Amino acid sequence: MESKNDMPRREFLAATAGMTLAGLAAGGVAQGVEEKLAIDGGAKAVTATSPTLPRFGAPERERLEEMIKQDTLFYWKGPQTTIFTERFKAICPLEHVMTCSSGTAALHIAIGAAGIVPGDEVITSPITDIGTVIGVIYQQGVPVFADLLPSELTLDPADVRRRITPKTKAIIAVHLAGNPSRMEELRAIADEHKLVLIEDACQAWGAKYRGKPIGTLGDIACWSLQNSKHITTGDGGVVASSHPVYGPKLQQYGDKGFNRATSGWESFSTNYRMSEPQAAVLAGQLTRLEGIVSSRARLGNLLSEHIKDVHGVLPHAVHPEDRCVYWFYMFRLDPAAFTCDRAQFSKALAAEGVPCSPGYIPVPVHRSDVFQKHAFFNGHWTIKEAGMTDMDYTKVETPEAEAILTTGMRVTIHESNTEEQILQYAAAIKKVATHYKA
Ligand SMILES: *Cc1c(COP(=O)(O)O)cnc(C)c1O
Repeated sequence: MESKNDMPRREFLAATAGMTLAGLAAGGVAQGVEEKLAIDGGAKAVTATSPTLPRFGAPERERLEEMIKQDTLFYWKGPQTTIFTERFKAICPLEHVMTCSSGTAALHIAIGAAGIVPGDEVITSPITDIGTVIGVIYQQGVPVFADLLPSELTLDPADVRRRITPKTKAIIAVHLAGNPSRMEELRAIADEHKLVLIEDACQAWGAKYRGKPIGTLGDIACWSLQNSKHITTGDGGVVASSHPVYGPKLQQYGDKGFNRATSGWESFSTNYRMSEPQAAVLAGQLTRLEGIVSSRARLGNLLSEHIKDVHGVLPHAVHPEDRCVYWFYMFRLDPAAFTCDRAQFSKALAAEGVPCSPGYIPVPVHRSDVFQKHAFFNGHWTIKEAGMTDMDYTKVETPEAEAILTTGMRVTIHESNTEEQILQYAAAIKKVATHYKA
């Protein structure tokens, strides 16, 4: 942590002055007081710092040291994979757990195990990592994009309902930014139409829906361990399920269709196995999870609490009984409420010391080039050419998703942030919003 004693005197005075004002603004006392923006040469609203905590250390080293004493680094009955699986089940009680090479792999395994056949439609979110739908395309299914809720940023169950056709086979609920989707409504739709409900929990490690662990609400759930996620093995993934039909198939769909318990090829799939070195790191990482996510949940909610009355700012909405784990925090700007555009707001906010950036992915997934051209397989889309789908991604409209991407402001919440920092983020948002008030 930066010590104030190391700061030149002038900088220290400026910093403390900013802190006092920021503190007042966060409490709502200084309303109407016009402060000079940092971008215009004023004092920064954010002066508090926090330590950068190492992501890896003793828990991972302990597992890795055990691992190098082994004779084999293969996942099947591997000690590290076994320890991870036990620890995982203690957090998220699911019967069948398969480690794999990525979140994309986990989702592909889920689609295979769910019995998706060529031409089947899978409804999902257009604001996500493209890995959500890569497995659908590879299994010759058809991703169908439904619109989102404006401030929860998850699937709008009413729009999901509107997009159901006789070909619909599954729903992939993306818990975007770690915010639980409306699982009760989605479950009801899935039951009514006999659809498989898959949870994309890649950004939602440790999240909870009405107190229940995310991953236990749907039929199959998928997590990513890519480097940017809450916990990581550099790359990696987990897919898990307690479903009596899909659950037992997860292992073989991640392992070339080979059922290792019966030694038989029971299906056709690719090789997505995770080896023991990664499982060792993963078993260690899992011991850090609760600390990471409980702190992010608390800090994100604190930010919402302190910006909810700022005119023109719509906080990230989370159900009071849910736990959002804020892989990122996103508030939305009402363009009519400000004299500046979002790019300027973002620059001004960053100058105040808030780690922020406008939007998330550049456009909804179906508006990316490869979808617009239906060019998935070297310029071809087999099932469309065969007349098995008439999906035309150039005609798909998801207006709320478009609006989220053009009016959203992403703020990085990190588990090492202090409450003081978050209050200063809130003060900075208020300060910039007040300055540019229309
Ligand atoms: C990261 C992510 C994926 C893909 O995970 P990878 O490990 O990068 O393959 C899928 N869906 C969502 C929502 C993600 O955030």
